[in-house]
Amino acid sequence: MLSPNNLQEFLKWMEGAELINIFIKQRVECKKLIREADLIIMLDFNQSNRLGEAEKYIKDSRAYKVVIDHHLDPRDFADLIITDPSRCSTAELLNDLICDINGGQFLNTPYAEALYVAIITDTGNFEYGTYSGNTLRTVAGLLDYGIERDRVLNTVYNNFSEDRMRLMGFALDKRMVIIPEYKSAYIYLTKKDLTDYNHLKGDTEGFVNMPLSIKGIIFSTLFIEKEDHVKLSFRSRGQFPVNEFAAIYFSGGGHLNASGGEYNDTLENTISYFLKVLKENLGRLKDQS
Ligand code: 5GP
Repeated sequence: MLSPNNLQEFLKWMEGAELINIFIKQRVECKKLIREADLIIMLDFNQSNRLGEAEKYIKDSRAYKVVIDHHLDPRDFADLIITDPSRCSTAELLNDLICDINGGQFLNTPYAEALYVAIITDTGNFEYGTYSGNTLRTVAGLLDYGIERDRVLNTVYNNFSEDRMRLMGFALDKRMVIIPEYKSAYIYLTKKDLTDYNHLKGDTEGFVNMPLSIKGIIFSTLFIEKEDHVKLSFRSRGQFPVNEFAAIYFSGGGHLNASGGEYNDTLENTISYFLKVLKENLGRLKDQS
């Protein structure tokens, strides 16, 4: 198993997480694994640039390449693309494929936990309207199997550091800007902010959703200042398509209501550019309720 970047802290407890090779930390091993593979299965993304530094090596590999994913608008970079944007998560689609291959529900505890964690994290613990009857039937099967729901929920959601909680408070108090006339809000965090609060990967997970619970706000953006670029996350309520917004203006993509992208400039210039392009979308935002 390979991941382009570090794992989120709140997922590191999962069985098998220690077996994942991190490209940016283990370049030599990862390049060897890619070079020697006959088959590469890529999960939960549909644009090759999401592979980060691994992109070039995967492209050069002669392995048969399969993508299994649930995002909109897949790009053509694999031999086989299995995609279904109606699924709440890639895990739900993958589980159905595995059940088909297995001739029935496949279950063991680490698998059941992984499936459950993938579904709760991709649906915001069933808060976003992306899940279906099939999702709930899948989860019902996991509960019948005896998955320790409370333990898993606590490990994923109630396991953050004090620093992360204080960073959230700081972000909401000092770094959140509301633009009522655009029904929009944004939060920005500088490199220094992250350092001041001993930021670990995954700590800002969920921050972008928070402004959406303010009355009248239907579009929320999070800017995170990185070494040489700015990473953006977008969320919306209703029909404002943040995947299109991310694709058109920020080389990104995702779902109708949850997307991300990046911009290669300073944080200040990125926010100025964002405000300019926001203006171009005023009509569409105003139409939403
Ligand atoms: P998040 O804001 O949680 O990082 O990402 C939300 C959704 O947008 C996820 O489905 C993720 O795959 C997608 N996404 C985030 N960043 C990017 C990006 O830079 N490019 C693309 N294509 N999708 C992204």
